[in-house]
Amino acid sequence: MTTTITDIKVILTQPGPSRLAIVKVMTSEPGLYGLGCATFTQRIHAVAAAVERHLKPFLLGRDVARIEEIWQMSMVHGYWRNGPVLNNAISGVDQALWDIKGKQAGMAVYDLLGGKSREAANVYVHAHGSTSSDIADHVKQYMADGYRYVRVQQGFYGGKSTDLHKPAGAPDGAYFDPSGYRRDTLEMIDFVRSEVGNEIELVHDVHERLNPADAVLFAKDVEQYRLFFLEDLLAPEDLHWFERVRAQCATPLAMGELFNHPLEWRTLIEGRLIDFIRMHVSQMGGITPARKVADFAHAYGVRTAWHGPGDTSPVGHAANLHLDIWSPAFGVQEWYQPSELEYEMFPGLPVVSDGYLYPQAGPGLGIDIDEQLAEQFPIQEIVEEWTQARLPDGSAARP
Ligand code: MG
Repeated sequence: MTTTITDIKVILTQPGPSRLAIVKVMTSEPGLYGLGCATFTQRIHAVAAAVERHLKPFLLGRDVARIEEIWQMSMVHGYWRNGPVLNNAISGVDQALWDIKGKQAGMAVYDLLGGKSREAANVYVHAHGSTSSDIADHVKQYMADGYRYVRVQQGFYGGKSTDLHKPAGAPDGAYFDPSGYRRDTLEMIDFVRSEVGNEIELVHDVHERLNPADAVLFAKDVEQYRLFFLEDLLAPEDLHWFERVRAQCATPLAMGELFNHPLEWRTLIEGRLIDFIRMHVSQMGGITPARKVADFAHAYGVRTAWHGPGDTSPVGHAANLHLDIWSPAFGVQEWYQPSELEYEMFPGLPVVSDGYLYPQAGPGLGIDIDEQLAEQFPIQEIVEEWTQARLPDGSAARP
């Protein structure tokens, strides 16, 4: 008998700094449901409305087995397609359908995808601090805990942002000084490398903040420190400049967390202009497109490093991990440090041991949500500050 979609709901919760959106798809089989990540934290109400007001009426009654068809139809059903809100909404349903299919089959999602390529996923974690020595100490703590890949950042994105030469009347808030950032970051990486040696793999995230010429210069300057990769060097608007970066240095490049359109990743992979592709899986539409990108990347020798900080939900982290365990193209997985509350709220949230992230036993995505506990942590109304970044003269900068 066909199992159909009987209800779809969005669970909004905030167990930490980030507001999370989890989609729950219920089915005609008693007790059978799936979970998916639809977390676009800055526009979370828009995603919830897209799921409940637009996708749900169109998907009720459909056969849960037809994941691919549902994904293709969902992408074009609104006629105007792509974009972070709709892709996240589609991802919530898509991941939930993979979860359901796994539960029906009694198999983990990585088994549905083709089985394990590895037992666990190497992760990279975030070391930050206001001084180079703080950051070096943070890296050493991670090394003592068994981590072998660490992202190093001074201050928040954009460096120290102190001693800015601002005009009178420039507003308070987040600032970014491009030349100060490049200078301070190179000094910091030089210091950290000298302190921690060459065994540890270092990553640095530019967060798409530099203008193209500065980005080329920075990638050349940082080459000598042998980063594992330089993350999001250019903004999506400036992708053509990757050719020039590539022509001038051998710094490994990772790109993609803001991408939501196939032409963004396709061009970079085909041109072998990057080494790691790293979309936010819910922002690209879920597991269905991510597995295709992983296979496409593999054909070109590009590896995956899916986006995975705290504004990916625990369900999204589980989805990332199933892709990592399966894909031959996997490189490294970004990882945050979930709180005890998140482990309690999301039974099955994967656990790191000795620098490796292990999938939990159990079919589907292997993760659940304690809805009563989630209800006790409702989302806050937040107006993000850090995405209101300014250049030293007070004008707007891309965050
Ligand atoms: Mg990043």
